[in-house]
Amino acid sequence: METLRGVSLASKLPRLERQMLWQHVLQVPRSWLIAHDTDPLSSETVARFRALEAQRLAGAPMAYILGRREFMGHDFDVSPAVLIPRPETELLVETALASLKAHKAPRVLDLGTGSGAIAISLALECPHATVVATDLSPDALAVARQNAARLGARVEFFSGSWYDALSGHKFFDLIVSNPPYISACDSHLQEGDLRFEPVTALTDGADGLSALRTIAQGAGQWLTPQGELYMEHGWDQAQVVQDLLRSSGFTQIASLPDLAGIDRVTGGIYN
Ligand code: GLN
Repeated sequence: METLRGVSLASKLPRLERQMLWQHVLQVPRSWLIAHDTDPLSSETVARFRALEAQRLAGAPMAYILGRREFMGHDFDVSPAVLIPRPETELLVETALASLKAHKAPRVLDLGTGSGAIAISLALECPHATVVATDLSPDALAVARQNAARLGARVEFFSGSWYDALSGHKFFDLIVSNPPYISACDSHLQEGDLRFEPVTALTDGADGLSALRTIAQGAGQWLTPQGELYMEHGWDQAQVVQDLLRSSGFTQIASLPDLAGIDRVTGGIYN
């Protein structure tokens, strides 16, 4: 009979990833794995582990294999239809939450919501906010709706390209977005997890600025006076996003650094 210890020792995966896969296959806490590492395993269990291990060795992201990723303290379902929520995007949510403090019943818009991580985190932290989220991809919206339902968040979802999804909607106090901002010729698109993520969530297929530009230029028509816009962007895009916001009618423009010290979120006030 095979055991956890035996199968694990023979595995080429790092220990943490092995443990995550075992926890997923056996549906047990990590402590269980340590206490039971010499228990005999059924051949079906070993086969299930080996199938997931093979996916991981072929490069599939852990988040897609497990179908889950933690973000802002909540577990989000993820599938290859959505971008995997990233720690640096918590900066966008925290920036939005700080700005929402000034409002009693704010209206918030998340453009290109993907898994819904941003919109749902905002709705859970700010139950008095009306949160609207859009995505071009119906498959992504299905994941986002499922997350909102499971986590108990009140978010209205609309399908369409950026503001086109919103026809007939009212004004917003705050717009947030983590749009595709990677340049089509950036070699990172061919590396690591990015190879498996939806390409339209990563890049605009051009210089990486077209979605940021569309969102900045269109925001004025959808914001209340003094409404705010915050966008996540690439490591070298802060200055150009600031310029875009300035030429789109924003003031008090600022960029904020992520945990790695890289300017990652830029926003301002519309007036
Ligand atoms: N932050 C992601 C990355 O660099 C990109 C996400 C995006 O384009 N919005 O991997």
